[in-house]
Amino acid sequence: MYKFRKLTDADIKGKTVVVRANLDVPLDEYGEIVDDTRIKASIPTYEYLLKQNCKIVVIGHLGRPNGKYVDELSLFPVRFALGKLLGIQIKFTQLESCANSIKYMNPGEITMIENLRFDPREESKNENERREYLKILTELCDVYVNDCFGVYKKHASVYDLPQMMESYAGFSIINEVENLNKLKEESKSPFVGIFGGAKIEDKIPVIEKFLNKVDTILLGGAMAYTFLKAQDINVGKSKTQDDLLDVARDILTKAQNSKTEIILPIDHLASDSFDSEAKVIEIQNQNIPDNLVGMDIGPKTTVMYREIIESAQTVLWNGPMGVFEFENFNKGTESIGEFIALGTPKGAYKVAGGGDTILAMQKLKIKPSRFNHVSVGGGMMMQFLSNDELEVLKILSE
Ligand code: AMP
Repeated sequence: MYKFRKLTDADIKGKTVVVRANLDVPLDEYGEIVDDTRIKASIPTYEYLLKQNCKIVVIGHLGRPNGKYVDELSLFPVRFALGKLLGIQIKFTQLESCANSIKYMNPGEITMIENLRFDPREESKNENERREYLKILTELCDVYVNDCFGVYKKHASVYDLPQMMESYAGFSIINEVENLNKLKEESKSPFVGIFGGAKIEDKIPVIEKFLNKVDTILLGGAMAYTFLKAQDINVGKSKTQDDLLDVARDILTKAQNSKTEIILPIDHLASDSFDSEAKVIEIQNQNIPDNLVGMDIGPKTTVMYREIIESAQTVLWNGPMGVFEFENFNKGTESIGEFIALGTPKGAYKVAGGGDTILAMQKLKIKPSRFNHVSVGGGMMMQFLSNDELEVLKILSE
């Protein structure tokens, strides 16, 4: 259990506060922000600091630029979105040239610094490099606040900087941890985990950690095809992570000796190409022909998953069941989201989380208010729930 150092216990009046926020919003092909849930998550923290007459320096990242400048991943549009939400103008600067911008800020002003991941030092494995990267902020700011529920790895802005200065947990982090703790510590059986999506590399290893913690795991999205392929089931041209086939096989074997049952799709919606206009081809069994791509769970799977969800007392959902961005292949995600929102028994504790899950909910009109909690962090939520402790949170605790 974390006992966070809280802003409300600190003397921060008039101080310069650097806030590490979750600014990693989804963008469309024109670079427009399609969902601002993550930006909104830290509004209570900014408002509190503004009331305390603080000067606020906002830092964060967008996407995966891999240590290089990528025009489309600039935080410039995020600065406007945040300014609009708070009703104030926000200044924008690069880290290398932030000194004057920060020194000459007035109380009640906010400055945002460009995407920290444009420099490889943010994610470096070398501690000295990471510490060096953001040292300037320890000289220009008095206090650090982590309000980013979304990055759990040892990156400079969430792991090193808070150890180099007076640091606190922000309201968004505290809210996430309180709500997710209910699921972690008081979950009632049957506990059903529904996992989908495409960031398989991060997600497959975490599934193992849920064995014996949940009763049933329902798999969908691209992730399911790696597990099917691991059992020599034909998945055609579907997206798989072949270097994780052994890991998937191992998880399935371990599941047999655990209390957890892993269930895979029994039919699919496929297409002959990965295309928004592609025609739907229904595959009525598990095997996808060589020339086809698996795009969504099929109707028989949807009914089977529905029955399991309807009996659940605790539900955790992360990741879409199919390519929900394409209208022809959004039905699986829509139905599963609806079943969780409306079909679970009264009193069931329901949590959804992750950027794409939130986006799918918004697009498919699945109401967040039907869930007990919607987490802004997908990977971090899964890590939080399946690990005893996360270092990035521990360092914000007494
Ligand atoms: P994640 O960020 O891991 O939750 O993955 C979300 C992405 O998974 C969405 O953009 C979906 O389009 C994608 N996805 C879901 N199902 C599939 C599939 N069958 N094939 C390829 N991508 C998929």
